[in-house]
Amino acid sequence: MKKHKRLLFIIIPSAVIVLLAAALFILAPFIAMSPAATGPVEDTDIYAVRNSRNNLFIIPSGEEYIVIDASTDLKDVEKAFNDAGMDPADVSHVLLTHAHYDHVGALPLFANAKIYISEDELTSSSHSLPDSVRLTDLIPLSDWQEMSLGGHNVTCIKSPGYTAGSMSYILDGKYMFTGDSMKIDNNTITEHPFTEERGKAAETRVLLFTRMLELELVLTAHYGLYYPSLLTLE
Ligand SMILES: [Zn+2]
Repeated sequence: MKKHKRLLFIIIPSAVIVLLAAALFILAPFIAMSPAATGPVEDTDIYAVRNSRNNLFIIPSGEEYIVIDASTDLKDVEKAFNDAGMDPADVSHVLLTHAHYDHVGALPLFANAKIYISEDELTSSSHSLPDSVRLTDLIPLSDWQEMSLGGHNVTCIKSPGYTAGSMSYILDGKYMFTGDSMKIDNNTITEHPFTEERGKAAETRVLLFTRMLELELVLTAHYGLYYPSLLTLE
């Protein structure tokens, strides 16, 4: 009996340590995420909304707004709009970088918006679009497509790797929205956790890096905002 007790004293703490280590291993990529704080983005007319561990970005467009990605929690996003004195009903266009749950959660809030997504992501079976969003209502985008939306110029850059149909966007020749196509840590561009096709993602990072050098600001979904001139590619 005594021997059994002594064994339990070894087994239980060991099991707890192993479980804690496993939990830390799983949570580490999330803990490392560092989205921008909710509020105006300095020196731009862009407004960042921090929701959970990511950002959505609001760009004024006349009396309306363009939104990049739709974040995770609809109620939190609604509150952020209200707090900033903006009405989600005035969002005219939503550009999705991809269709994971943490980028599409608040889509039902933007009932009057046209929603854009890459044609490759639209045909992918692994999207997490809310039930109320019909695939047929989404507007497919192709590689290097140029659009004029509410007075803004948008360039679509196919960014496969993180997901097969990921898309990045350049706005007005100044800002690049990279979604989850890269992680940026201490101004170093690296692979985003949970990347599906690592080789393709590496090619995408090279492509985006060469394009962002001409721009003013890079806005990631999970890792904040960066001046391209300070960035290096790992
Ligand atoms: Zn994400």
